[in-house]
Amino acid sequence: MEAIKEIYTPTTQDYAENLQTCCLCGGKLSFKHEVDFYTLTVKEECGCPTCGIKNNPLVYSLQ
Ligand SMILES: [Zn+2]
Repeated sequence: MEAIKEIYTPTTQDYAENLQTCCLCGGKLSFKHEVDFYTLTVKEECGCPTCGIKNNPLVYSLQ
């Protein structure tokens, strides 16, 4: 009995594709970025136009 030798190692591109693909329907996610220059933050909203789900907005600091 031979052990499985191939181990799946995701590449950076696979990882990026996973981040851009809807976990429900597999559709392509759309991203929207809003920069707030007063607080120096970027709000990233991500949603799926196909099934309508939305992730919680992520907020990044520019500082
Ligand atoms: Zn979807």
